[in-house]
Order: sequence, then C-alpha cells, then structure tokens
Amino acid sequence: MYDVAIIGCGITGASIAYRLSRFDLKTVVIEKENDVAMGATRANSAIVHAGYDPEENTLMAKLNVRSVELTKELCKNLSVPYAQIGSLVLAFSEEEAQHIEKLYKRGINNGVEGLRVLSAEETKEKEPFVSDDVVCSLYAPTAAIISPWEYALALAETAVVNGTQIMFSSEVSDIKKTDEMFVIRAGEKEIKAKTVINAAGVQADRIHDMVLPHEFEIIPNKGAYFILDKCEGTRTKHVVFQCPNKDGKGVLVSPTVHGNLIVGPNAVPSERYDTSAKLSDLVFVKRKAIKSVPSVDFRTNIKNFSGVRPNSTESDFIIKSTDGFIDVAGIKSPGLASAAGIAEYVEQLMCNSGIRLSEKTSYIKDRKQIRFKELSHEERKKLVESNPLYGRVICRCETVTEGEIVDAIHRPIVPRTVDGIKRRCGAGLGRCQGGFCGPRVVEILSRELKVDREEIAKDRDVSYILKRRER
Ligand SMILES: Cc1cc2nc3c(=O)[nH]c(=O)nc-3n(C[C@H](O)[C@H](O)[C@H](O)COP(=O)(O)OP(=O)(O)OC[C@H]3O[C@@H](n4cnc5c(N)ncnc54)[C@H](O)[C@@H]3O)c2cc1C
Repeated sequence: MYDVAIIGCGITGASIAYRLSRFDLKTVVIEKENDVAMGATRANSAIVHAGYDPEENTLMAKLNVRSVELTKELCKNLSVPYAQIGSLVLAFSEEEAQHIEKLYKRGINNGVEGLRVLSAEETKEKEPFVSDDVVCSLYAPTAAIISPWEYALALAETAVVNGTQIMFSSEVSDIKKTDEMFVIRAGEKEIKAKTVINAAGVQADRIHDMVLPHEFEIIPNKGAYFILDKCEGTRTKHVVFQCPNKDGKGVLVSPTVHGNLIVGPNAVPSERYDTSAKLSDLVFVKRKAIKSVPSVDFRTNIKNFSGVRPNSTESDFIIKSTDGFIDVAGIKSPGLASAAGIAEYVEQLMCNSGIRLSEKTSYIKDRKQIRFKELSHEERKKLVESNPLYGRVICRCETVTEGEIVDAIHRPIVPRTVDGIKRRCGAGLGRCQGGFCGPRVVEILSRELKVDREEIAKDRDVSYILKRRER
C-alpha cells in the first residue's frame, strides 16, 4: 500500500511529488498520458507572474507571491530554463490607467516587490516597440519566463530519483474509500493508498466526485498562441500584457526562454481536450497583439497551439483536505507560477491532518542537464572528446546533439516519443519544427530503447509515425 497517491503529473502533481519526496513516504503518481506535462502545463504562456493580478487575501494571491522566489530557486537547482525579465501591463485609456492604479495597489497589498507605475515615456524607454498610444504601464520586475514542461519534468525526475514511482498511461476511472484506505482503479491496475491527492487538471471535478459529494465544476477555457521565429525573439524585452478583463490576463507579447516570441492567448469556452488553434482564435489574438506591439511580424510564425485552462466554478484555487482526500483543483492561471507554493501548502495540509512527515536521511534536491549550445568552446571540446555523440548535431535549428538526446533517453523518466525528446532537450522546437531532425530522433529512440521504429509515436499513445509496408 502507498502512503500517498497523486493523480495527475502536470506541474501541480509534479511539484507535490517533488516536495513530498523529501520524506519517508511511499508515493505514487498516477498519470493517464504517456509522459509528464501533457495537459495545461505544456500549453500556456510560460510566465511566472509577479502576483498583482489575484484578488487580495485569496489563496491564489498568497501562493503566487510566495512562489516567485521559490520558483527561481528551484529552477536554479534543477537546471530549468528561467529568466527574470520583468513584465509591463499597458494602459491605452484613462479608464485603463485607473485599472493600472488598482493593480498597483493590489500588488502592494499582495506583497509584490518592486512594482512601479511608469509614464508613457518611461514605458517606451523600456520597450521601444510598444504602441505610441500607450498612456502608462505597470512594471513588475519580479515577473519571469520559464520552460513549463522542463520545469515539470525536472521536478518529476528528481522525485523519481528520490524514490517516487510514476505510473504512466494509467487513467483513474474509479476510487473507493474504505475505513483504512482508498482503492484506486486505473485501467487494469488497482492501487491502494492512505492519502489521495487530486491534481487532475481539467478532470479534477470528476476525480473529486468519485470520492466526495459534488461541490465544484471545471469550466474548460481555451487560449490560442503564435510562436514566432527567433528573428522576432527580441521584439520585446519584457512580458508585455494588456489590461486584464473578465476573461483573463489578455493577449501578451513576450520573449520565450528558447529565444522565440510568444503571442497569445485568447479565452473561449471549450471542451476539456480541445487543443485546436482555430483561425478565428488566431485572427483575434493577432488583432489584439498588434494593439500593444504594432510591428510584430506574424509572417515569421513557426507554430500555433492552444491550451485549456482548468477554470472552475470557484474564483480561487480549490485546495483542501477531507479525510485523507486532498483536492488541488481549479488550478487555473497563475497555476504554473504558484506551483511551488501550492506544493508547500499541500505539505502543511498533510501535517495539519496528522500525517507524520519524517525527513529522509539522504535526499537529492538538485539535478544537472547538459545543454551543448550554452557551453563555451572549451567545454564543448572537452565534452566531444569524452563522448563523440556530443559532436554530432541532430537538431540544426536548436543545436541539439545526439549526446543530449541519448542523455534524455536514459534519464529517470524515459521518454518514448519524438515530442518527449523535444520537451527534454529541445530537438524539434525550432524553425523547421522537427522536419529535419524528426526521422533521426525516431532512429535514435528505436536504437536506444531497442524497439522497432514503427513503435515510436509522435506524442500521445498510438500517434505512430511509420507504418511497415505489407509485402
Ligand atoms: C492558455 C493558458 C495560459 C496560461 N498561462 C499561464 C501563465 O503564463 N502562468 C501561469 O502561472 N499559469 C498559466 N496558465 C495556467 C497553468 O498552465 C495551469 O495552472 C497549470 O498548468 C495547471 O497544472 P496542473 O498540473 O494542475 O494541470 P495539468 O497540467 O492539466 O495536469 C493535469 C494532469 O492530470 C492528468 N489526468 C487528468 N485526468 C486524469 C485521470 N483520470 N487519471 C490520471 N491522470 C489524469 C492529465 O493527463 C494531466 O497530465 C495558463 C493556462 C492556459 C491554458
């Protein structure tokens, strides 16, 4: 029997697993997909928000602000791409300028550090390409950009190194509560655990209803994006937001940690798994973005995608413990930015409900990852001499070597798909979107995993790429 079963391995489940892996607990993470970060965690704006947006005295405000420093520290320790570039919220009218004042006061009350209201001139000094129509802006120096899937992977990998088990391709379909334990059904598996943590994203209401009376509903809401080529990557230096409205934080224009420009999202009601990026969504996003930064060159678009927000009938995050069952539900934006604080809060809930958490004598909290293109010439030379696979560039757009791909395959959570490799070391993330390196990645995966090439999927289970010709 497990002490803890966490359902879902997005950023919420992975952060909790990492946090709990310090303790002498037998923990399992149950994930319905074949890899980490397959839900909202892989399709979002990738911003560590400063914390002025959530209403005062909410869990969201508290955990967002608390997480700003925690996330920075974690990314450093776990070798996750992170850059504290700061954010600007632009106002285009007197009415919006009043909203900026409101956000400023709210931010101060929430404990956000370094907030300032900038005049139009000061804003243009920071961001020369923003529209001349800007009236003023809110500057938040603590906002950062991050690689969300690498963040979740790093946390989950380190949890595994510390003894956590992860069951992939295991969709929880039923949970029974007895006097001593929970009995979880996931496909053919029956998993017994003393505590269950519901971190199931857009399915969190359904998981809750398996155990407790109906209390809340998830209201999925989709947002679409453009990823522009690296030649547009310096169009802005900060995360450039518009004034938030009832639908969310509005369309942003921002550099990414991988050197591209991200533009989006809109906000439309959707199905739980509808990640299509429709033309109407993209046209809306483009129109809004041009209002902030008129010179964005959309002809350099290399990818469009959508993510589904696990919004809920509650305005705040739903994090509470009921007789050994802990909901961590409705983790909408800023869920990525708040994940470290959410995990800390869950740990406190567990302590408060009498679960004994004793620290392990040996615990690994750090993780290293080689990124060839970030090394100096001397370091590259040494690496290639020690392992010639680092001398063979497979992804030319992102300069990812065979050594890095092989390293990714032999990490504690084994990727079995082409996109699994992309998420771990960036092969296929660039301008050609895997057009050149995709077939080589299939070959390397097949060789290293000792499986036929036909068995290598692009992304989710059964998204096969190759088919053997019948003779
Ligand atoms: C368009 C958009 C933009 C956003 N921008 C930002 C941002 O810039 N900054 C920020 O802080 N936040 C942002 N967010 C919010 C952030 O992405 C989410 O808060 C966060 O990713 C939620 O993580 P999660 O782990 O709770 O959910 P998910 O990442 O969705 O993970 C849930 C996991 O549970 C699994 N699962 C579901 N059902 C079952 C089941 N029955 N059995 C087993 N496993 C199951 C899923 O497969 C999934 O892997 C944005 C979200 C969207 C959609």
